[in-house]
Amino acid sequence: MPSIPYCGRFAPSPTGPLHLGSMLAAFGSWLLARHAGGQWLVRIEDVDPPREVPGAADTQLATLAAFGLNPDAPVQYQSRRHALYRAAADALLAQDKAFLCHCSRADLASQHGVHRHCVANQKRPTPAIRLRVADGSHITFDDALQGHFAQDVDRAVGDFVLLRADGCWAYQLAVVVDDADQHITHVVRGADLIDSTPRQILLQQALGLPTPQYLHLPLLLGEDGHKLSKSLSALPVNANAPLPVLRWLWAALGQAPATLDAATSVAELLQQAAAGFEPARLRKQSLIATGSPPA
Ligand code: GLU
Repeated sequence: MPSIPYCGRFAPSPTGPLHLGSMLAAFGSWLLARHAGGQWLVRIEDVDPPREVPGAADTQLATLAAFGLNPDAPVQYQSRRHALYRAAADALLAQDKAFLCHCSRADLASQHGVHRHCVANQKRPTPAIRLRVADGSHITFDDALQGHFAQDVDRAVGDFVLLRADGCWAYQLAVVVDDADQHITHVVRGADLIDSTPRQILLQQALGLPTPQYLHLPLLLGEDGHKLSKSLSALPVNANAPLPVLRWLWAALGQAPATLDAATSVAELLQQAAAGFEPARLRKQSLIATGSPPA
């Protein structure tokens, strides 16, 4: 089988409809994959039922389809992949790279929420599983847009959770297992996740998995400079009017607006966008979203 030089993905959590911020990651990851002549996959990250909104995954996939962002392989659902996460956790436990933890949030409060030693007062019937993070776990990587990034994982987050005490697999474990299993070579996502990347690299190293190239796109911020919650980028995108939204996202990605002026259909716009995309124009700083939503 020929090796695929570039495989990217978009991995939304089904916690609501796709908004401008998530569409920036979807379109940005699609453009970078197309520009590289690579593949682009979609994975629904439904490992956290308490946070899930019924029907949200279908709505998200319908929105991607309305925007012409069609994955190159069938959509994967994390809820159907628990056996893979179990196998990874068992391998780490067997090698003593992970351990069962009975600490509660209240137990950890005295340690500012950072787990370095078990301080549990009593055993839980369903303990969590944590990765053993050695002292001095200094992880660095070169983000393709944000540049050099470093974190002392032991001090910043400590022994982090792989399986929660409520039985849910943690995002950090599921994303690492799936990125490797799907042969993802390039992870493109929002800069709100850059803090998670050192944990994911540490986990890849513990599991003997390759580390993909990372590119963290700028965040969309509200006019007050804070992450958008109730304003523009948190509004669901209008799946009935993809063209203005795609043009808005294109400009937010720093691309030359005139490239897409003539497009009259989604297919035409995406073709012109794929041909005219210039990664060097991506901005690394957060973007302030102002005005009214594109529609
Ligand atoms: N599921 C995560 C989210 O929606 C993104 C995970 C990722 O791209 O690594 O925030």
